[in-house]
Amino acid sequence: MIDHSLNDNEIGVLCPGCCYETKKKVGWVKTHTQMECRNCGSIVDIESRNFRAPRNTGADD
Ligand SMILES: [Zn+2]
Repeated sequence: MIDHSLNDNEIGVLCPGCCYETKKKVGWVKTHTQMECRNCGSIVDIESRNFRAPRNTGADD
């Protein structure tokens, strides 16, 4: 069973070029394959290797 509430969670997508982290909602990420880095303007492939866990999960603090 899919928990659709996860779609409102934010995830960080790291730009491989400049390491700028762009926060996107999970629901947005699921419907897009690329995004433009706001920092350097590069087109970033949205792949799991570019994901970064949100800072405020508290899981690892
Ligand atoms: Zn960038």
